[in-house]
Amino acid sequence: MMEFTVPQLVRHKPSGNVLVTRRYYEATQSRGAGYSCSPVKNSNTTRGYPIDELEAMVRKRGVIDYDLDIVPRAQGVLNWEVIEPVDLALTLSNVAACAGWTAYPEIAWVQKPGDNRKSWARIFLHGTQWGGWTGQAHAIVYEGGQSKYPSHLRDAVVDAAVRAVHKRSEPAGNLAAAVLDMEATKYYQREAAMPSAWLLSICKHEVVDTGTADSKMRGWHPAHCSKCGMNLSVDSSD
Ligand SMILES: [Zn+2]
Repeated sequence: MMEFTVPQLVRHKPSGNVLVTRRYYEATQSRGAGYSCSPVKNSNTTRGYPIDELEAMVRKRGVIDYDLDIVPRAQGVLNWEVIEPVDLALTLSNVAACAGWTAYPEIAWVQKPGDNRKSWARIFLHGTQWGGWTGQAHAIVYEGGQSKYPSHLRDAVVDAAVRAVHKRSEPAGNLAAAVLDMEATKYYQREAAMPSAWLLSICKHEVVDTGTADSKMRGWHPAHCSKCGMNLSVDSSD
C-alpha cells in the first residue's frame, strides 16, 4: 500500500480531481486508513479519502508544469523554495512592461518569511524563451496593516495638541474638534499601506553550462539546472 508524504499532490482516481494531502488517519473498525485531502484551489474544504482511491501525481523532471507546480504554490498549498524581498518600484516596472511575465488569473497567496499566515497577492509568472515556465514569479503582496488617517488630519491634531499645551489662550475645544474630525474619516478615505514585492522561485537554479567555445561563438549557450534538471539554454543568435 502506497504512503504519501504530507502535503503532496494526489489524484483522486474515481473523480480525477487533483487534491493535496493534509493528514494521515489510521484505520478504524468502520473505515480503512486514508488521508484528509483538500482541493488545490480550496484548502478550506477537507475530506477523508481511503488510500487506495489516491495516486501520487508524478512530476516530470526538468519541466515546470502549470497544474502540478504553479497552481498549488499560487494557491498556497505547496511552498516555493525561495521567497526573496525585492524592490517594489522595479517589480512594478517589470510587470508593467509585460516583458516575459504573465499574470496568474486568480488571487494568489504568499506566506512571507517569518509570517505565520498567508497574505493576498497578485503574482506574475516568468516565461521561458521556449514558451514554458521558469518557475519564478513576481509577487505583489497586499499589505493591510492598519489603515492610517490622512496625514493632514493627523497634523491638525498634533498642532492642536501642541497649542493646547503651550498657549494659555487656546480653547480646549479646538483639540477635541481636531480629534473628532480625524476619527470621522471613513475607512475608504484612509491612507492605504503600500504593497510589498517578492521574487518567488520553485527552484533556485544551479546552472551547469555545457556550451563549447564553438557553440558560444554561434550564440548558443546550452545549460541545465543540476537540481531540477530544467533546460536553461539560451539562444542569443539572431
Ligand atoms: Zn533548478
